Amino acid sequence: MDYLFTPSPTVSVPVLGSTDEFPVHRIYCVGRNYEEHAQEMGHTGREPPFFFMKPADAVLVVQPGSTATLPYPSLTHNLHHEIELVVAIGTGGKEIPVDQAAKHIFGYAVGLDMTRRDLQNDMKKQGRPWCIGKGFDHSAPIGTITPALQAGDIVNAAISLRVNGVERQRSLIAKLIWNVSETIAQLSAAWELQPGDLIYTGTPAGVAAVVPGDVLIATVAGLTTIELKVV
Ligand code: MN
Repeated sequence: MDYLFTPSPTVSVPVLGSTDEFPVHRIYCVGRNYEEHAQEMGHTGREPPFFFMKPADAVLVVQPGSTATLPYPSLTHNLHHEIELVVAIGTGGKEIPVDQAAKHIFGYAVGLDMTRRDLQNDMKKQGRPWCIGKGFDHSAPIGTITPALQAGDIVNAAISLRVNGVERQRSLIAKLIWNVSETIAQLSAAWELQPGDLIYTGTPAGVAAVVPGDVLIATVAGLTTIELKVV
């Protein structure tokens, strides 16, 4: 047996302190997982977590110490940044209990859930899927994955994003409505998690537009900072 054409290469993300890379299986994202962001999007309270996905090859790897290029996507006039803590799953499972969830985590990274907000809002209004607003090419920038044991106190880490040197988003991972373990438990009730899955855990308040020329610096304390320029 041979393939009709060359299969797509495996998408992978660098790992701190290793020459081995983390091969990506799926990208899950959590919607509205910080209260102040839920409010700015017109919602309140602790609703059950909800999920959407991006294709694995939406990953845009940001190498440490370099400025990655983020191509301004087609069709939109309102490209938004959403800084997020990304959880990298190392051990799969389904119906994972909250108190077992930490064992399934390989590590953490800084990510951006880039969003074509105008298209997402159009789809929301019409009750249609968000794919065109969320799952476009290069929509999932991510930095080096730090293994969990080296990541320090992620639960209490600060998360922040600057654009052209001006702070746009700042919060604490502790302010997640559904924390990492609860998210893994809920997600694994809906899908069987696999090694290689990435979970973008949601963004704090302050989402806003970027334009070509903007430089984004995204930080979660204890993890590798990422820097990107929109072109
Ligand atoms: Mn998001």
